[in-house]
Amino acid sequence: MAFTLMPLPYDAEALAPAITAETFGYHHGKHHQAYVDKTNAAIEGTANADASLEAIIAASRGSDAGLFNNSAQTWNHGFYWHSLAPATSGPSGDLADKIDASFGSLDALKEELKSKGAGHFASGWVWLAEKGGKLEVVDTHDADTLADSSDYNPLLVIDLWEHAYYLDHQNARPGYLSAVVDGHLNWDFAADNLARGSTWTYPA
Ligand code: MN
Repeated sequence: MAFTLMPLPYDAEALAPAITAETFGYHHGKHHQAYVDKTNAAIEGTANADASLEAIIAASRGSDAGLFNNSAQTWNHGFYWHSLAPATSGPSGDLADKIDASFGSLDALKEELKSKGAGHFASGWVWLAEKGGKLEVVDTHDADTLADSSDYNPLLVIDLWEHAYYLDHQNARPGYLSAVVDGHLNWDFAADNLARGSTWTYPA
């Protein structure tokens, strides 16, 4: 089964100026496409040819760096597109309760996402994730992912690679993080992931 580049769940202009259509053009149209293509090329004719993306990530972790990096990046980018939204309404219900219980307040969670994201060295991802009923902000390096984690259920992710923000914010990663965290996180997606209680799956 070949994987496909999932369409963006909003118009490419919808998050400007935080993330412009030019960035989405390269990030979605070139970077994500390349991860999908390289994953498909690596699994063709192998035992992984009909496996789910999540199973491929788990099977290649620690044993096949090329396949792991491309399959994990395919998954991470799909999860990232869904973690963003043109407008944000803020968390409610069980998600809001767990944010207050875990961080003290929504503002404290936002500050932790910004500070951990800004402090992360080089490329990677910053996540909001649930573990044992509590929410945590965690970061992963390069292509590393929570997609196959047995501990964490990822709720949201923000891409920290320079290709995510350089065209719009140049070297100012904190400016990108503030624009995304304050204005463009998809709290409905986070609430869906929390309510499901199991990890989101990449569309087949
Ligand atoms: Mn990226």
